[in-house]
Amino acid sequence: MSGRCDNCRRRLSGEGRRTATRVLCEECFTQFTGLAAGFLAAGTVDDAISTADWLQRVKDAGRQELEAPRAG
Ligand SMILES: [Zn+2]
Repeated sequence: MSGRCDNCRRRLSGEGRRTATRVLCEECFTQFTGLAAGFLAAGTVDDAISTADWLQRVKDAGRQELEAPRAG
């Protein structure tokens, strides 16, 4: 039965996010996918963590307008 995050055991507000083997809350799923992407891309924990961090910032930035690139 689902209802709790398999990673942090927090109660899920909805159905949660399904991976191949587990059900995760939104937060853990973001970290999980970020780490997975990092490991695939670079294969080191440090890089994986920065990738997860970057992913979170991209998600946060999605709510705002992206800054226009500065000329010169
Ligand atoms: Zn969780």
